[in-house]
Amino acid sequence: MHNTTRSQELFSAAQTLMPGGVSSPVRAFRSVGGQPIVFDRVKGAYAWDVDGNRYIDYIGSWGPAICGHAHPEVIGALHEALEKGTSFGAPCALENKLAEMVIDAVPSVEMVRFVNSGTEACMSVLRLMRAFTGREKIIKFEGCYHGHADMFLVKAGSGVATLGLPDSPGVPRTTAASTLTAPYNDLEAVKKLFAENPGEIAGVILEPVVGNAGFITPEPGFLEGIRELTKENGALLVFDEVMTGFRISYGGAQAKFGITPDLTTMGKVIGGGLPVGAYGGRADIMSMVAPAGPMYQAGTLSGNPLAMTAGIKTLELLKQPGSYERLEAITKRLIDGIIEGARSAGLPITGGSISAMFGFFLCEGPVRNFEEAKAADTVRFGKLHRAMLERGIYLAPSAFEAGFTSLAHSDEDIDATIAAFRECFAAVA
Ligand SMILES: *Cc1c(COP(=O)(O)O)cnc(C)c1O
Repeated sequence: MHNTTRSQELFSAAQTLMPGGVSSPVRAFRSVGGQPIVFDRVKGAYAWDVDGNRYIDYIGSWGPAICGHAHPEVIGALHEALEKGTSFGAPCALENKLAEMVIDAVPSVEMVRFVNSGTEACMSVLRLMRAFTGREKIIKFEGCYHGHADMFLVKAGSGVATLGLPDSPGVPRTTAASTLTAPYNDLEAVKKLFAENPGEIAGVILEPVVGNAGFITPEPGFLEGIRELTKENGALLVFDEVMTGFRISYGGAQAKFGITPDLTTMGKVIGGGLPVGAYGGRADIMSMVAPAGPMYQAGTLSGNPLAMTAGIKTLELLKQPGSYERLEAITKRLIDGIIEGARSAGLPITGGSISAMFGFFLCEGPVRNFEEAKAADTVRFGKLHRAMLERGIYLAPSAFEAGFTSLAHSDEDIDATIAAFRECFAAVA
């Protein structure tokens, strides 16, 4: 039997020390029930908890661990960098190197600015969109997450098509009102917003493949349509590739789908497990960023040598031939096995994968947007999550999060995971 006594002790002590016992909300397992596991260490495809249990990990620190946790080459490079100091607060050659790699890899990026998180990248790009266009409103999609800055904590309330309502107390209503929202994959809704707000929309930001409302793919023509609409209306298109960057393909979703946005945000993989975010895009737009231009944005620890080192090494590993073919193959086999397992237990399921990103909903498909995703059976998902945890499989603790594989997941890991899913689907059917 799976003993988690030490995890439970630590988590209950954490409750009095930190809000909800965590440093980031979803880690608290609130949406699946049960107790979160406190990790002791991670390596390759595995995580070990403080009670000594081993898990096959399908979160990978929420994305960064695409080469596997604590990859020996990343750790080795970090050891070397560490000897030279952790932060310079001055230009360092490693920034040039990572910038060159990002510019080479990501079609839309001609210049890049490094920051410390995906949230920071998105809030900065938002200021840039407004600075460049001289307009204030933006369009985002329901269910897409762009970090926790005020302007993004908004989705459409029922029947409120054009007036954003804040999702969190503390977000000023006036801020929320500049954020217009549309259902994902709904080009007509976006057209309507442009028609109703002529000359006022700075741009559209979206996850080119959604991972924060579960795994939802863009329908054929959707990204193309948004690209055309933004061009026609003199608005900017931003791909938030914090999750999809270097995961959907080395050049991100934009390389995979052949659609080039004006600006791109990155995070997660680009930092190889250290805190890094980045935003980049057309040189004429990026030239507005201080000190080249008037749009202010800065950071004490931005571009620090340790973070740059982890990012560079991770991208070098990913760039080796065959990486994405391998990721694609194991992830496809995993999701096919999951779907087959649910069906053989008589459960409704819909799901898919692209490269190293996958997801499923416990409902009949198709799921094209967040509203449709809400049909998923979240109570059953919670039971499934707990049963999988007991069998040593660590899945994202929410029915509305994508899953991630890594180059460290072996064929045996995938087989063991599929077998565990089969048993657990039968147990929760
Ligand atoms: C995770 C994520 C963010 C926020 O990044 P943080 O590093 O957690 O601040 C923004 N956008 C997307 C698409 C994400 O998945």
